[in-house]
Amino acid sequence: MGLLLRTFQTADEASATLKADHASRYLGGGTLLVRRANEGDISFSSYVRVVDKALSEISIADGRVRVGASVTMAQILASTELSPLGPAARAVGGPAIRNMATVGGNLHAPPPYGDFAVALIALGALVDFDGREVPVTDFLAGRDGVFSSGVIRSVSFALPAEGSFRFAKVSRVKPKGTAVVTIAAVIEEDSGVITSARVAYGCLADRPIRAKVVEGALVGKERSRDGIAEALAVAHEGTTPITDAVASAWYRGEVLPVHLARLLLG
Ligand SMILES: Cc1cc2nc3c(=O)[nH]c(=O)nc-3n(C[C@H](O)[C@H](O)[C@H](O)COP(=O)(O)OP(=O)(O)OC[C@H]3O[C@@H](n4cnc5c(N)ncnc54)[C@H](O)[C@@H]3O)c2cc1C
Repeated sequence: MGLLLRTFQTADEASATLKADHASRYLGGGTLLVRRANEGDISFSSYVRVVDKALSEISIADGRVRVGASVTMAQILASTELSPLGPAARAVGGPAIRNMATVGGNLHAPPPYGDFAVALIALGALVDFDGREVPVTDFLAGRDGVFSSGVIRSVSFALPAEGSFRFAKVSRVKPKGTAVVTIAAVIEEDSGVITSARVAYGCLADRPIRAKVVEGALVGKERSRDGIAEALAVAHEGTTPITDAVASAWYRGEVLPVHLARLLLG
């Protein structure tokens, strides 16, 4: 079966086509979608792409960052202003994948992927979907439903204060690659006391999730072994870890508090 490639100048035109033709799929970097086609997925028969340059731009104004959905992980790594996010972009595959993998595609990536999306949750990002801004957690919750056909145009977030963004992708030594767990956090402190916390997990549910109970247990506490004890005790709240070839749900649950502690105290 042939696959059609349809190129549009604007996200609006592409979105209208995606909504009208359920056998079309938006083509980002293609690292997942083209693989699906090559593996024989016949649920779609055309790729839809957009050549509007705005989708490939990074802009920063008044401390707020807007990253086009077609921006690749390699572009993020090359941006000095976004250097705090370097560890999250570098976590996505190897160099060849990072040259193609886009921010928009990462928001749709099934587990064990979606490392950059975990970072976006911790950053409190907004997703511009078809011209409407929605919190990234709402987008992720609805990505198979209300947000399944249409175009992600960009993500935006406030640049985190220096030293406040923390990120860890835990993977096996052998085989090296996909995550056992991914954790991202933005932790703000005043005189050694945590004043605000946003914490996100990957591989601990069917998509990246926010760890709200952990956040509640951190605010008002010292960032010390004793201060984070309550947060570690509730680290599993709201999680349903995945099982795959790299780790079982049980193993992921066992190592979560260990890596959360390292992330918070490191
Ligand atoms: C060998 C290999 C290693 C990998 N390692 C990692 C890893 O370590 N961590 C990780 O997180 N991921 C990894 N991935 C998965 C993938 O490369 C990334 O998640 C990437 O960010 C997906 O983006 P893409 O642009 O390639 O998506 P595509 O393959 O183009 O698209 C994926 C899905 O997202 C949709 N989509 C893409 N862009 C948009 C948009 N703007 N609007 C609406 N829908 C859109 C597509 O329609 C499709 O359904 C790996 C993949 C491979 C093949």
